[in-house]
Amino acid sequence: MPPARLAASVLSADFARLGEQVKAVEPHADIIHVDVMDAHFVPPLTIGPVVVESLRPVTDLTLHAHLMVDAPEALLEDFASAGTDIVTFHLEAASDPGRVVRLAGDRGMAAGIAVNPETDVHGVFPYLEGLDNVIVMTLERTGWAGQPFNEEMLPKVEAVRKEIDRRELSVDVVVDGGIDESTGRRCIAAGATVLAAASSVFKASDPGDAARRLSLVARGA
Ligand code: ZN
Repeated sequence: MPPARLAASVLSADFARLGEQVKAVEPHADIIHVDVMDAHFVPPLTIGPVVVESLRPVTDLTLHAHLMVDAPEALLEDFASAGTDIVTFHLEAASDPGRVVRLAGDRGMAAGIAVNPETDVHGVFPYLEGLDNVIVMTLERTGWAGQPFNEEMLPKVEAVRKEIDRRELSVDVVVDGGIDESTGRRCIAAGATVLAAASSVFKASDPGDAARRLSLVARGA
């Protein structure tokens, strides 16, 4: 299996200096993770396709939009046009997840499905075949950066990894929420292949160095 990778989530970045902050982590991050929240599926309201569009010329890194929104299919066109490489929507937000995966593919994006802490990860198993990734939310509640890691989520990481390997699929398991060097290490041991980190990167005094240290954790160092 290739080494795991680091996704830097701009949720905790300084948006007045977003391009500069992305440049600072670029040497060590593999993916820029954009957390999109609509104030319906989750209470907070964050950012949308215009931010992806602004980041597209700034970086060659993969841009991954994590849609914490109701009716994700309605936003696919806008995210695709903005230059999104990968789009992940929530299992809880889609009445027909298979259809959303197909629609994303039709628009040239790889697709993933995310599960909230209270959702059984087995719900994504019927869709694994066509997926780029599964995001396991590893905090108490979906929607806010800076919450503590919820270690009860580790068995979900193990379960989905086991199923992906059993079926010999190439699907990333992304852990998202409360990821730092210590929790990241445990997630990698449980079978995660992407660490998505927001606060531990962008709230650090030196985001570039924080990304460097986390990328070493991802690579098993
Ligand atoms: Zn996310």
